[in-house]
Order: sequence, then C-alpha cells, then structure tokens
Amino acid sequence: MSSLPSVVPGVLGDSSLSQFDVIIIGSGAGGSMAARTLAVAGGKKVLVLESGPNYFPGLDDPAPGQPLPLFSSDELKLNVRPLINQDPFLEPRTFRTQASDSAGVQDVNTMPRTVGGAAVHADMKYPRFNAVDFRMATELGQVGRSFAGTNFSDWPVTYDALEPFYAEAERLTGVQGQRGSDPFESRRSSEFLMPPGVPMYVAEVLSQGARGNGCHPFPYPTAVNSRPYGGRPPCIDCGFCSGYGCPNNAKCSPAVTTLREALLSGNCQLRYNCMVTRLLHDAGRHVTGVEYVDGDGQRRQVSGDQFILAASAIESARLCFLSDPGGPGLGNSSDMVGRNLLFHYQTIAVGIYKQRLHGERGRSVTHGISDYRGVLPGGERIDPALKLGGIIELATNSEAIRGAKQNLDALAFARLQGLDITLKQLLINSPFLAHIAVLTMQAEDAPQVTNRIDLDPRVRDVFGSPVPRITYRNSALEKEARTFYSPMMLDIHKKASAQYGFIAPEDMPSQSSHVMGTLRMGADAATSVCDAFGKFHDVDNLYNMDGGVFVTSSGYNPTLTIITLALRAAANLVSPGSPERVLGR
Ligand SMILES: Cc1cc2nc3c(=O)[nH]c(=O)nc-3n(C[C@H](O)[C@H](O)[C@H](O)COP(=O)(O)OP(=O)(O)OC[C@H]3O[C@@H](n4cnc5c(N)ncnc54)[C@H](O)[C@@H]3O)c2cc1C
Repeated sequence: MSSLPSVVPGVLGDSSLSQFDVIIIGSGAGGSMAARTLAVAGGKKVLVLESGPNYFPGLDDPAPGQPLPLFSSDELKLNVRPLINQDPFLEPRTFRTQASDSAGVQDVNTMPRTVGGAAVHADMKYPRFNAVDFRMATELGQVGRSFAGTNFSDWPVTYDALEPFYAEAERLTGVQGQRGSDPFESRRSSEFLMPPGVPMYVAEVLSQGARGNGCHPFPYPTAVNSRPYGGRPPCIDCGFCSGYGCPNNAKCSPAVTTLREALLSGNCQLRYNCMVTRLLHDAGRHVTGVEYVDGDGQRRQVSGDQFILAASAIESARLCFLSDPGGPGLGNSSDMVGRNLLFHYQTIAVGIYKQRLHGERGRSVTHGISDYRGVLPGGERIDPALKLGGIIELATNSEAIRGAKQNLDALAFARLQGLDITLKQLLINSPFLAHIAVLTMQAEDAPQVTNRIDLDPRVRDVFGSPVPRITYRNSALEKEARTFYSPMMLDIHKKASAQYGFIAPEDMPSQSSHVMGTLRMGADAATSVCDAFGKFHDVDNLYNMDGGVFVTSSGYNPTLTIITLALRAAANLVSPGSPERVLGR
C-alpha cells in the first residue's frame, strides 16, 4: 500500500517498496527522466540512489500545490560557498593533459550533487542538436575535413528517430521558445510550450551588434516557465538563475518535473545521501546489485533486475572501473569505457560598455545566435565555408559579490599602474558587474580516445574509492574554431558599441559544466560501449542514461538531448522495439 509523502528520514517516495524492477544511480536530468518513464508510463518499481542531499522537502507530497525548495537568491550560500556543489576536499579529481604526465589534484568539471542533479543549478538553456550532429563523421568526410587524433563516428540514432522524443521531453519538462526564430534549427513537429520570457537588456544590446554582423539572434529555448506551466508559477526574473536553485520552482528542473511525477506515481523510491561505490555482478555479464554508503556512513547492498547508470558521464564511467578492481572495467571489452570524454570548448569574448547593462535583472541568458555553429540553415548539413563552432550565449555578470571581488584585483592592478583610484570609486562604477557583456561560444569538442577518465592510482575520496583521473587536451578542430570566430565575436561587441573588447584566456583545465562521452553508443561492440538505447553491449541488464552515451558533442547545450535519449532508452525498456508507444503516457 503506497503511502506518500514518505516519513522515513533520507527517503522520498514510497518507502514501503523493497523489491525493485529497476535501480537508477543518480537523480539528475537523465536519471529523473528514466525514473519518470519507467514508474509512470511503465508501471515499474524503481529505486533511485542519489549521493547528494535533498533541498526539496515535500517533493513527494501529493497535496495540491508544489512545496517550495530550500533555495534563496543567495550569492554567498550558492556561489561563494557553493552549497550544492561536489566538495573537492571530500571528493577530489585529478587532471593532466597527456598520459605521460602525472596528474595533480584539480577542481575540474565538478558538478552539483543534489536530488535533481546539476540541472537544479543550471539556467536550463534547452536547445536541440542539429540533424547533422548525428552523422558528423560522414559529413566531415564528405567535405574532406579531418583532424589528427580525433575519433568522429556517426551516432546509431538519427535526428528523425529522436524528433518525437525531443518533442515529448520538451512537453514533460516545459520549454519556452519561439519556433522559426533560429534559422539554423532543424525541423520540429511541435510548438514550444510557452512563449519566450522577458528579454534581458544586455541581450538587446548584443543582439543589435550581432545583427550588424549579419547574424540572427533568437530567444534561447529554455526550460524555465514564462507562463504558469505544470502547476508551477512563471519566472519572476530575480536575476539568480545560472548557478542557483530556483526559489519559486519556475525553473523546470528535473526534481520538480520528471522526478516529482515519478515519486507521486507510488512506484518510485528515492534514497538520498547514498553514494554508490560499486556494482555487484556475475563475471561482468549480469549485474546483481549495487553497494552504497548511506547517510549514516553504513555500507549497504540492494538488488534489482535492471540497472541504470545516470551519475553523469565522468562518475558513471568511474563506477564501471570501481566495479572491476584489477580488471579492465565493467563493460569494457572494447577498451572504450572512459574514453572520448567531451566538454564544450568555450571561447569567451568580453566587451566593456559605457552604459550599465543590468545583468542583475532577468535570467542569466535570454538570447543566443547559431550563425557561428558552422551549419547551413535547417541544420541538415555543415557549411563548408565555416568552421565547426557552436551556439553563442549573450550574457553578462549578474553577481554583486563576484563583481565586487573582481574590483579588488582591479584595484591592485590599477595601483601597480600608478592610477589614482579607490575601491569606493570602483564599487560605485562597478566595471565588472555593470559594464561587462560576454559572448560565450559552446563550440564542438572533437572526440579523442586519449581524452579520458580512469582511476587515479594515488588519490582516494572520503569513501575510500580511487578518484577519477581526467586526461584531456584540445585538438586542432577546437583551436581552429577559436582562431576563426574570435575576430567575428569581437566585431559583434564593436557593432554593439563596446568601448573595448578582448578574448578571455583559454579555459584549461576546462571548467565546462557540459560533460559528455566516456560510454559512447554505437552499433559495433568493438568500438563502442552501449547500443542505441544505452544498453551495455557486454552486460545483459546494464544501461547508461546520462551524457555518457554521446558520440559527439555538437555545439549546443547538451541537457535536452540527454533527457531525450534517456526517455527513448527507458521507453524501450517499457515497450521493447517500439518505444514510441510510450509517448504521451
Ligand atoms: C551552473 C550550471 C549551469 C548549467 N547550464 C546549463 C544549460 O543552460 N543548459 C544545459 O544544457 N546544461 C547546463 N548545465 C549542465 C547540466 O546541468 C548537465 O548537462 C546535466 O545536469 C547533466 O545531466 P546528467 O543526468 O548527465 O547528470 P547530473 O545532472 O550531474 O546528475 C547526476 C547525479 O548523479 C549523482 N551521483 C553521482 N555519482 C553518484 C554515485 N556514485 N552514487 C549516487 N549518485 C551519484 C549526482 O549527485 C547527481 O545528482 C549547467 C550546469 C551547471 C552546473
């Protein structure tokens, strides 16, 4: 008999469940979509194990109205002392640029740990990939372009096969946007669920410059309510979006959308503060259970029939290695587990403007341009006259404490230059908060087998497990895009009347929050880890449903594609061979 909400500490959903059809590791974007699909549309009994804490009390309360989360627009709490981020002292990572170097402890690509995953923290820009993204190897071959050391491959799924799942993922989440405003968008069968919200002033300024450069700025498809949707209110443009949990649930984060639906179905139980440390298996062919450390530090085991890794690309691959100590790694007959790690290569053009840009008003990003993605209108082919770049986000700084801290650096620099300026004057003029506009390109990051995660032989986390060691450096493809597009991006600032413009130093090690690859999907078990539905080739009941399955990175924010693939993969578990039957359920 289902009893909601749960009164058991550390548990959301039906606490009486003890036998599970499916166990999901991670309650982020991918894991929550999988849980919703299996529990609501499939009637499966689902257990979600989440390492992070819960900031959504009452998420499983069926009473009308959705309880508010424990978030506030508090820069000190969320940014200066990153409340929901992975703690790099307890769970460090190591980094190096090549295998011959020894890796050092670095804060690299750490993602939030919380019920709902990293997207709770995101401002949830949710564009689709282009149709051509799913056959990039073929396309690059056709235009005669190759890059040393890269490992492009076509995806085992096409845009046409994914399109209905994109539409359903947008519906289940709630995505605002304006159909037809981005000429490079690939065909879509449905309207956006809501019209675009209020544009930020900085977007208007930069859009003018972009138009002057022949570009087509458009309202960024975003999973934030601009109207009441899903029983949640519209965004009030409080200005604390990227990097912040949403205080009024207007952000359509996985917790308050798909995960809440899963929990309310009575078929799903979520145990939080539970860190999975390994999968238990029969000789690598069949997973029998998982071992985890609960919130009281007790090591526990739980068994189930099917298992889904959704711990994000780096942590899911790490679990494969942790589950086969001394061996090649679970599911790794191809030697591809952990390889082809992808981020987005960010080129950042900064402009300094005379007028105040009011970044504190509005969502972090309301507009983008796709003209420098490097595809032809419609997104079916790459443009041979351009390089493979990415979508550009039009933004500014919205954080008062960050801006003020940057003034201290500026003061030291100014004093070194002999300038007669005080901190008070800097704070009043606020150059780093009020006068900066930023163009951020999320450019294609080419897959390379040498860009990978494995286990660090020396460093362990607080649970005693070896930490992920990241080996990563950029290929000629990313460098070429940076060289090609930087002058054009600076030109946008110029045409928008910036006083100065410069390109920010390269981001290395990458701090990109877009983490993909490591468990790539493919038709050939010799060169890929999972099939087109995220099922491990080597293991008969193990799946990946996060960004791990990505074959290439595209040049668009990845999360809508993560949840679309998770939806399709979980739907195939519910309705094998005809996942589209699950759409609309
Ligand atoms: C500030 C910020 C802004 C962003 N903005 C955007 C954006 O605008 N658009 C966009 O597309 N993307 C954005 N992203 C990225 C986006 O959040 C990720 O792409 C997305 O959350 C990835 O989903 P996932 O399911 O793969 O992993 P995650 O959301 O990271 O979920 C993984 C979950 O697994 C849990 N976990 C990990 N290891 C274990 C373990 N061993 N045991 C149990 N649980 C575990 C984690 O705690 C986490 O909750 C942003 C990210 C950040 C941090």
